[in-house]
Amino acid sequence: METYENLLESALEKMPKKLHERERFQIPDVVTEIQGNKTLIRNFADIATTLRREPNHLAKYMFKELASPGNIQGSALILQRKLTSRLIQEKVNSYVKDFVYCKICGEPDTKFVKEGRITFIQCDACGGRSPYKHI
Ligand SMILES: [Zn+2]
Repeated sequence: METYENLLESALEKMPKKLHERERFQIPDVVTEIQGNKTLIRNFADIATTLRREPNHLAKYMFKELASPGNIQGSALILQRKLTSRLIQEKVNSYVKDFVYCKICGEPDTKFVKEGRITFIQCDACGGRSPYKHI
């Protein structure tokens, strides 16, 4: 039987060496589930990790864009409305466009940088700064 360490090692070996290559970056597919009048994004934490953004920031965007209150529960996001996965996917895509891709070079290797009261989207690939749209 394989030990946990062995499994971890082989998993790490299978990971791409350069995580930042453009062709490696893919917007994750949302996995949703309707529960009564609520919609769960089951893989919400994974999406935030892939996008390298704070789950709270992404959640705030989703609440506003989907006009729904909600909350983070474990690795899922709960929205207090019935929503289609297609609509939620569209909002994730637009989040990536607004907050992840560099507006100058189009690479996804960006982070938020705050200077005084102004926040920028700083790109690690080209060093450029894009404006940050407040949610
Ligand atoms: Zn850039």
